[in-house]
Amino acid sequence: MSNHPELQAGIVLVGAPGSGKGTQATRLQNTLGYVHISTGDLLRAAVAAGTSLGQQAKAYMDAGGLVPDALVIDLVKQALAAPRAHKGFLLDGFPRTLAQARALEAADVRVSCVVNLLVPFELIERRIIGRRSCPNGHVFHLEYAPPKRQDVCDKCGQALAQRSDDTPEKVRARLEKFASETQPVIEHYAHTPGLVVDVDGLGDPDEVFARVTAVLR
Ligand code: AMP
Repeated sequence: MSNHPELQAGIVLVGAPGSGKGTQATRLQNTLGYVHISTGDLLRAAVAAGTSLGQQAKAYMDAGGLVPDALVIDLVKQALAAPRAHKGFLLDGFPRTLAQARALEAADVRVSCVVNLLVPFELIERRIIGRRSCPNGHVFHLEYAPPKRQDVCDKCGQALAQRSDDTPEKVRARLEKFASETQPVIEHYAHTPGLVVDVDGLGDPDEVFARVTAVLR
């Protein structure tokens, strides 16, 4: 995938949809200077741009399913090849299947820490349904982090909207995929002693960030 000897080890953020991976990854990127590689963001950008990848990925995403491994692996491969990734990288939303985890290993991409953000499933739906974001990826929450002006991004003034896969039935489909496809990835990493660190994802993003930085290595 990379096979670049100069590529530093990276951090993998795992957690159910709505566990706060994106929020924490953005903060870590700012603090550590690592490149934040979010497959969800890359895929949404491809869909918005109408690229061939975006056209292929759209139906899977709309249904709350997973985009085929080959497409996503290729996307991450390109992101890791960028010179900026050589300082270190944060994978957010990847790997989500065992095949994706094995693709990283086959390419000698080193993972120094797997941060497993834990949020009870009962709370996930509430977190996701209230989520609103702008086209530049700034994320708000109607209840927990409301924008100053309704439906307008505080940071860039663009309109806020709900993600098309953030509806209750799609959230349920995504949670099922998480249980069937992504839990085995966490179990796979847990075979390496000390690699996976569980972090309580409940509470204010600042508190969660303090917990995340305390466990990083
Ligand atoms: P996210 O923003 O991480 O919740 O991702 C949104 C959607 O993009 C997911 O529900 C999947 O349809 C797709 N997606 C993101 N990352 C992956 C991945 N690693 N493998 C397969 N599909 C993905």
